[in-house]
Amino acid sequence: MSKSVTGPEIERLIQLLAKLPGLGPRSARRAALHLIKKKDQLLSPLAAAMGEALEKVRLCETCGNVDTFSPCTICSDPRRDRSIIVVVEDVSDLWALERAAVINATYHVLGGVLSPLDGIGPEDLAIASMVERVKGADSAVREIIIAVNATVEGQTTAHYITDQLVGTDIKITRLAHGVPVGGELDYLDEGTLVAAIKSRSRF
Ligand SMILES: [Zn+2]
Repeated sequence: MSKSVTGPEIERLIQLLAKLPGLGPRSARRAALHLIKKKDQLLSPLAAAMGEALEKVRLCETCGNVDTFSPCTICSDPRRDRSIIVVVEDVSDLWALERAAVINATYHVLGGVLSPLDGIGPEDLAIASMVERVKGADSAVREIIIAVNATVEGQTTAHYITDQLVGTDIKITRLAHGVPVGGELDYLDEGTLVAAIKSRSRF
């Protein structure tokens, strides 16, 4: 074990920072040192923002988004098209779609995908609440866009959701699979090429 060069408080800060996605022990040390050097401009407001987030953050009861109130900003926005629900795995996917500003719909965050190998079944995901939302008496939902990742688990989940909505007249769509914008065919794997050919569209 390497000898500690700082007191336990700073060591603890480094250890916690190292748990953040994208930060290893080395970058965590750099981040901690940066925070300490910028105590007033950065460390202090960050600590305050974290305390406030800890106190106020909650999950939206309707869609599972993260916000400081429930229903969340998106669910309580009257300008949103309530006839479309975009189903995503994680809040980060919801945020990505919102950043792209491609659709003015509402969302449903599953909290993962079906993965029997990892022991993740339908009851571990927000699937029942989605079906309830779609089939509810006051539901205005006409379309479900399944925007899960293009993985085996993601596709299994998409099929499961589709099965749950059999017998309804809800239109179920999924994101196109294929060539990424700016992508070069030569660099794509065979699975992507097959998907791109299968989901080709009229020019
Ligand atoms: Zn919401």
